[in-house]
Amino acid sequence: MIAKSNDDTAGDQSISGWSFDNSYGRLPDAFYQTIEPTPVQQPEVAVFNDSLASEMGLECITEAIDGVARVLAGNVIPPGSQPIAQAYAGHQFGHFTMLGDGRAVLLGEHQMPSGARVDVQLKGSGRTLYSRGGDGRAALGPMLREYLISEAMHGLGIPTSRSLAVVTTGESVYRESALPGAILTRIAQSHVRVGTFQYAAGIDDPKAIGVLADYVIDRHDADLAEQPDRYLRLLESVVLRQAELVAQWMLVGFVHGVLNTDNVSIAGETIDYGPCAFIDRYRIDTVFSSIDRQGRYAFGNQPAIMQWNLARFAETLLPLLGDSPNSDRSADVSDADKDLAVDSATDVLRGFEGHYQEAWLSGMRRKLGLGDAHGGDLQLIQSLLDHMSDRKLDYTNTFDSLTRGTLIDDHSGDALLADWIDRWQQRRHSDRFSEQESIATMRAANPAIIPRNHIVEQVLKSAGDGDWRPWDDFLRLLRSPYQTEPVPDNFHQPAPADAQPYRTFCGT
Ligand code: AMP
Ligand code: MG
Repeated sequence: MIAKSNDDTAGDQSISGWSFDNSYGRLPDAFYQTIEPTPVQQPEVAVFNDSLASEMGLECITEAIDGVARVLAGNVIPPGSQPIAQAYAGHQFGHFTMLGDGRAVLLGEHQMPSGARVDVQLKGSGRTLYSRGGDGRAALGPMLREYLISEAMHGLGIPTSRSLAVVTTGESVYRESALPGAILTRIAQSHVRVGTFQYAAGIDDPKAIGVLADYVIDRHDADLAEQPDRYLRLLESVVLRQAELVAQWMLVGFVHGVLNTDNVSIAGETIDYGPCAFIDRYRIDTVFSSIDRQGRYAFGNQPAIMQWNLARFAETLLPLLGDSPNSDRSADVSDADKDLAVDSATDVLRGFEGHYQEAWLSGMRRKLGLGDAHGGDLQLIQSLLDHMSDRKLDYTNTFDSLTRGTLIDDHSGDALLADWIDRWQQRRHSDRFSEQESIATMRAANPAIIPRNHIVEQVLKSAGDGDWRPWDDFLRLLRSPYQTEPVPDNFHQPAPADAQPYRTFCGT
C-alpha cells in the first residue's frame, strides 16, 4: 500500500503506518495554498518521539533513519499526503492582519489506530504564499524548545499540540547571527484557529464562514451537527474549552506569551510555543516576552485576554446565529434578528468567567487537597497566593513542599505562613477527604517539576554542544511530573535570586 510520491524510495518506506485524509484541502480554495515543503540540503533526525509515533500507529525502520529524516524534513512526501499551507488572519497585539502558514506545511490529517484524527504539520518547511518578508524557516534552538515544552505540557495533562520530531536541515538560518536550521513535526487535533474564522469572515465569500463552522463541528463537535442552534452551541463549546485550558495554564504557572487570535486553537489545545515560559516566583504581572511591553499577555491577564479573543471569534459567527440552519445566509437579516444574535453570543461569552472561575477554583482545591467546596475557600487560596507574591516564593515549589509537608521547614520563622498553614489544616480537618486522600489529590495536582527557564536554556545549550544527556534526563522527568520521588536539585531549583530577568523572543 505504499505509494510513491517521487523516486526516493528509501524515504517512502522508512516510516510506515500513515493513514492520511486531507479534508482541509476539500474546503474552498481560498482556505489554503497547495504547496510542498521546500527540500533541504542534509536532513538529520535530532530528536524523535517514539511513544507518540507508536500512539499514532507509525513505525520507523531504524536502519532507514536517513529516510525518516527526509520525510520529516519534507524532502519526501509520505503516501497519501497532499500538502497545503493554511490561510488565516489574526489580531496580533490587538491589530488585525491577514496571516497564514508562513513557515509551515500541513501534510494532512493522519488517522490514528484509536480513530482520532490529527494534523501532521512541518514547521520551518520553507516559504509559502503567506510568508510575507519571512524566510519560511526555523532555527534548531526554538524548535527543540517547542518540542520540550509541548511535551512537558502533555506530561502535565494540559491539552496541547505534540511534537513528533525535530530534524536539522544542514542549512543555516539567519536571525541576529547564522543558526542551524531545523524542522519540527507538530501534531495537533487541528490547526483551525480563531484567526481562521476571522479569515473566513474577512474574505469576499458570504458562504465561507458557514462552511468553516460546519467543518469544525464535523471535526471537533460532531454531537452538535444535528442541533438547530449548532453555531451558538459551537461558540459555547469553544468558550468552555478555552476557559478550562486557561485555568490549567494558571494552575501550573504557564505564560503563553503571544495570545494573538491566530494562536488560539478552536480544538482547545495550547498551540504556538514561541515566547512562552513558566513563572518561578508568583507574580501575576509576570511577562517574559521582549515585545510585550504593555503586559497585554502577562500571566494574570490571560483569562481576560482569552475572553477578548473569544469575542473576536463570536463576531465572526454572528451572521450564522439566529439564522435557521437552511436559510439563505446572503438574504437580508432583520435588525431584530441581528440584535438577537448579538444578545445570545454575548450571553455565551459572559459564561467564560463562570467556567474559568469554576475550573480554576476546583483546580486550586485539588492543589490544596480539598474534596469539598466551602464558602471561604477562595479567601484561603488568595491569602496563600498573596503571601507567595509578597515573599517572592516560588510557585511550583511552594505547592510541592506543601504536598510533601515540608513547607514550614523550608520557611521556618515565617509566622504568617505558619498561621496560614494552621488555617489550612483546620479546613482540611473539616473536609470529607481523609489525610491520605488529601495528600494523593495534592500529589496528582502539584507538579514536582516544570520546564524552568534557566534549566531549559542549560539543556538546550548542552544539546547544541552535542551532549544530549541532560535533555534525555530532563525530558524523562517532565513526562511524569506528578511524582512522589523528589526531583534532583539540578532540575528543580529556581534561578538564583540575583539572575537577570528571563526574556523570550518572537520571530525565532
Ligand atoms: P507566530 O508568531 O509564530 O504565531 O507567527 C505569526 C505569523 O508569522 C505566522 O503567519 C507565521 O507563519 C509567520 N512567520 C513566523 N516566522 C516566519 C518566518 N521565519 N518566515 C515566514 N513566516 C513566518
Ligand atoms: Mg502563530
